Amino acid sequence: MTVSFELSPELETYRHGLRDWSVAVLRPYARAADASHAAPADWPQILSTCPVPLGRHSRDKTATVTVFPDGEPLRGMVQTEAVNYGDTWAQSHISGGIGHVVVKLLGSPAQVERWHDPILADTAKVTALGLSEPQAGSDTGAISTRAIRDGDCWVLNGTKVFCSHGASAEFVVVIAVVDGGDGVRSTEAFVVERGTPGLEIVRKNETKLGLRAWETSQIALVDCAVPVSHRLASVAPSPSNDGRRLNALTALNDNRPNVSAMATSVAEAALDITQPLLHEQRRAFRPDRWTLVERDLDAMRAAIARSRRVGYRAQWLRGAGRSNRSEASMAKAFGPHTAERIVRRCMQLLGPDGTCTDLLLEKWYRDMKILDIFEGTSQIQRRIITRELAKAWFQP
Ligand SMILES: Cc1cc2nc3c(=O)[nH]c(=O)nc-3n(C[C@H](O)[C@H](O)[C@H](O)COP(=O)(O)OP(=O)(O)OC[C@H]3O[C@@H](n4cnc5c(N)ncnc54)[C@H](O)[C@@H]3O)c2cc1C
Repeated sequence: MTVSFELSPELETYRHGLRDWSVAVLRPYARAADASHAAPADWPQILSTCPVPLGRHSRDKTATVTVFPDGEPLRGMVQTEAVNYGDTWAQSHISGGIGHVVVKLLGSPAQVERWHDPILADTAKVTALGLSEPQAGSDTGAISTRAIRDGDCWVLNGTKVFCSHGASAEFVVVIAVVDGGDGVRSTEAFVVERGTPGLEIVRKNETKLGLRAWETSQIALVDCAVPVSHRLASVAPSPSNDGRRLNALTALNDNRPNVSAMATSVAEAALDITQPLLHEQRRAFRPDRWTLVERDLDAMRAAIARSRRVGYRAQWLRGAGRSNRSEASMAKAFGPHTAERIVRRCMQLLGPDGTCTDLLLEKWYRDMKILDIFEGTSQIQRRIITRELAKAWFQP
């Protein structure tokens, strides 16, 4: 058995380059993005200053896919971690949304060529996934958006909420229920391009507690007809996908360790700001107070290390082509929840200074609450973990 949690030297160098850049370039925009509920208008130019390859934003397009010995899932997680160490505002713009990721996962080669590849080539474009509804998010079985076949088209009707980039996206991948002739229901994914008649933007952005620069839109589909070629080809069960039929939720599963990485890095940034400030005040503290402070600092460092390891393991399993459902959910359940507690503790240790807008702690505290809720709440992750454990017990 090999147990190593060390990144390769190449990935370490990449991580440091990205992290320094995110602190120097992204962090100064954090307050303005939070106050205006939007990323800076020139975000593509800001991202283009990154000195190391940044996925689709790499300056050198030939370096878009940099191969590291650690594998692509782990590289992606390290990228997410390093970028969010500066602040969270840029994350959704760097990834460009999740719609094209779902196309890559579920689409035919022609669909991937049409809707996935151009998004990687044009860094100013974003895409969206419309799954959550007013009465359905965690419970995907309650989705009520309908797709009905009408000749060469599918006609969609329904409402989607909290759709990331919904109002700005080139297209939204809409999850809808298809009624089969034999009464069998199935959820399918449909690409609805911007400007399609019947695709209505009800609200461009929600006013949220945190992650305010992350646009979340409400959209309505009113007799919205798309050609049959816009239904994403589904992928049949196979050993490589655990015998499960792939659906849009698989993309969410793949992204869970990255959400955890966002949280872990913000927790670390909060601690890295708090610790030196406490050290400056140390002389004024009685010894018993300092002992308690040190105990808290140690506990928080350890929690960050645990959080990171759970996420790394999930990504390592994925990179090795093995199932990581349980580990991905563990990372999502543990990371944001832990980060929320750490940022809260940092504010507490600093007293009122910790809650002032001179520091970013109060912003990050608000951001962490959102990370704990979206892409599947921690309660839902715990249900998934329990289900996976039960499967392992009963199907040895
Ligand atoms: C910033 C942001 C971006 C988002 N982006 C997208 C997007 O791009 N596309 C999209 O489709 N959605 C998106 N969402 C929606 C988000 O994924 C859902 O809101 C989230 O998964 C929770 O689902 P819900 O809204 O149905 O809440 P509910 O399921 O109603 O949850 C309410 C509470 O009930 C609990 N709960 C629910 N069911 C159970 C259960 N069975 N057992 C125990 N507790 C339970 C939950 O844990 C939660 O605490 C986004 C949300 C945010 C805030």
